[in-house]
Amino acid sequence: MSEDSAVQSPQQILKRTFGYDSFRGFQEAIVERTLRDQHSLVIMPTGMGKSLCFQVPAISLASRQTERRGLTLVISPLIALMKDQVDSLVRKGVSATFINSSLERGQREHRYLGIAEGKWDLLYVTPERFQKPEFLEVLDQRTIQLLAIDEAHCISQWGHDFRPDYTRVGDIRKSLGSPTTIALTATATVDVQNDIARQLGLELVRGADADDQTPASMLLFHQGIDRPNLSLEVDEVWDDDMKLDRIVEMRSSVSGPGIVYFTLIRKLVEFSDRLLAQGVDHLIYHGDLPRNRRRQLQEQFMGGDNFLVLATNAFGMGIDKEDIRYVLHADLPGSMESYYQEIGRAGRDGQPSKCLLLYDQRDLATQMEFIRWSNPDAEFYRRVFDFLDNDLEQCNAFGLEWLREKLHHRQKHDRRLETALSMLIRWDVFRGTIEPLQLERISDFPDDKFDATFIDDKLKRDQEKLLAIVQYARHEGDRKAFLNEYFGL
Ligand code: ADP
Ligand code: MG
Repeated sequence: MSEDSAVQSPQQILKRTFGYDSFRGFQEAIVERTLRDQHSLVIMPTGMGKSLCFQVPAISLASRQTERRGLTLVISPLIALMKDQVDSLVRKGVSATFINSSLERGQREHRYLGIAEGKWDLLYVTPERFQKPEFLEVLDQRTIQLLAIDEAHCISQWGHDFRPDYTRVGDIRKSLGSPTTIALTATATVDVQNDIARQLGLELVRGADADDQTPASMLLFHQGIDRPNLSLEVDEVWDDDMKLDRIVEMRSSVSGPGIVYFTLIRKLVEFSDRLLAQGVDHLIYHGDLPRNRRRQLQEQFMGGDNFLVLATNAFGMGIDKEDIRYVLHADLPGSMESYYQEIGRAGRDGQPSKCLLLYDQRDLATQMEFIRWSNPDAEFYRRVFDFLDNDLEQCNAFGLEWLREKLHHRQKHDRRLETALSMLIRWDVFRGTIEPLQLERISDFPDDKFDATFIDDKLKRDQEKLLAIVQYARHEGDRKAFLNEYFGL
């Protein structure tokens, strides 16, 4: 291709726009496949470079057209990261923008107008956006050349981070004219991999069957999940004193920032007091702190080079600190998926980092209780439905916590209401959002969903996930091999 040609090759885009000399791992194969209008499911560890897999094709596709440029749509659940990603693209001269609920009305309308006029090559949105008719109208003015679905594990109700709005991406994709699609995630079990393709209306093809493809094939690129610079360790402990000792040891033997994760806020606070009594300085972060305090703490942690933070799993979404040197789990997490995601925050800079899981058999009881709390029975679904149905306006006005109080005593970690609402949205009984609670009824109570198997299946899956992390904790052999097997490599 000649220098003056407007059409840029992937290699040129990599060099000129991103300043890199070579693609990593499967990036090049994925980019080329995407440019041949074929679909891919990409599993790559955090920090490996999933974004380039759709950004390079997006730029290349846009450069092919002179007028009425086609658009690449990027669906992402993380409002917190959207702006950073777009800013970074814009600094590189890429024509990108985002639309989400953080924008003021005027800004949003300005962007809608721009999109309709053919501005921008990449547009980042949350899946909720597709519930807005104005947005759909605007999109109608553009040809969607490529659909990228980031954090694609959120599609699967069996995933650890299920988002009801993500289950609509199948319909969204169809309404966009079934464009070339690339779905990306850092982790997906075999079940979740299949579910992602199925929900998109595509057929997952694994490497071994790559010769046998149709236009609906979605090829799996599994880069593995190993992060070579992370060391994985498990220590069995018998009581809180031992846990405290391990935390103090880690703090004094490793220099640099670290996170200690707790399951329960009550325990976190207790450990915080005991650490203070021993003169161990630290920050604390959990969901009961006011929002602005949490933001402050997050900024403090991000800005420092030696903070220890005690946190619940509320901490981390959107944390992009490169030099976290250790992630210690003081309690057993609920699944391998959440464990892997949480340790994934360590060592983004590639430097050696420690991941230590403390395994106390007693923690199992807490997790079993959580499973009960996130698996309501049919009767509970019915109650939620009836309550909403009776006075939806009032529920929307007073919000989620109010509704929770009405339905049952407020207990920390009781997620039954969220689960029920998510599923009712997924089944198209209600339309709208859970936080803030803003629902609209669209159909009757789905009696047909409640054959005994639905509730049992979900319960069983949750129990299996917990069992897997217990097996991991007890595993004597290579922990990384265990992880690879779990995530279907
Ligand atoms: P992920 O989404 O997989 O967590 P990102 O797409 O955010 O990862 O990329 C992580 C970092 O790696 C970014 O700073 C990105 O610019 C960089 N990167 C991606 N691909 C390459 C490459 N081929 N060569 C060098 N750096 C790369
Ligand atoms: Mg990413």
